[in-house]
Amino acid sequence: MAKHKITAIPSIRRLPSYLHIIRQSREEGQEYISGTVIAQELHLEPIQVRKDLAITGIVGKPKKGYPVVALMAAIEHFLGWDEIQQAVLIGAGNLGTALAGYQEFHYHGLHICAAFDRDTSKIGTSIHGVPVFSLETLPIQIRNLKATIAILTVPSSNAQEITDILVGAGISAIWNFTNVKLKVPETVVVQKEDLTSGYAMLCVMMNASRHE
Ligand code: ATP
Repeated sequence: MAKHKITAIPSIRRLPSYLHIIRQSREEGQEYISGTVIAQELHLEPIQVRKDLAITGIVGKPKKGYPVVALMAAIEHFLGWDEIQQAVLIGAGNLGTALAGYQEFHYHGLHICAAFDRDTSKIGTSIHGVPVFSLETLPIQIRNLKATIAILTVPSSNAQEITDILVGAGISAIWNFTNVKLKVPETVVVQKEDLTSGYAMLCVMMNASRHE
């Protein structure tokens, strides 16, 4: 099976920030929100916001804007956030523990149901309520828990070896927080997250503003 080609990646990346603003407006009791208001909040062009929202299939009403509840539902459905995904975390170290404790994932249907580590002092404990198991039990647990996503927070040197185990266990997706470009079959999707790239942007912007 060929890898699914995803278009509109920048639009997809902006949708969560739209969702955040739309949720706030619902909490304030508003029924409608305009693309212009969302654009102003995020310092974007209104046309950009309207184009991005169009990919979810929702249409706004002239003068009124978008119905808030339907807009939230459309974005969540487009992102697949209206379905619960069972995830396993591999590597219960500092980063893995932080991710296990990040409450925002719950609101988006991401449920970290188990963590795995090879450190015997961590096995049998829990991180933010997520039980830590031995790596040996990983394949059987993935099947039992019906986990679709693996969050990879082991040291980079062990990333490919763990990935091979995950692939063999039938995982569908890997959220890769290591520095390694993982080799996976076409049927497995990988999203690589480089936390240092955001920091790089911050540093360059800081330097640029100092020299203005
Ligand atoms: P700590 O100091 O508590 O180990 P850390 O975040 O500094 O935390 P790292 O060296 O980044 O640790 O490793 C992250 C986690 O991955 C650790 O809990 C470690 O035990 C675990 N780990 C390392 N290698 C493997 C492996 N091959 N399989 C499973 N877990 C592993």
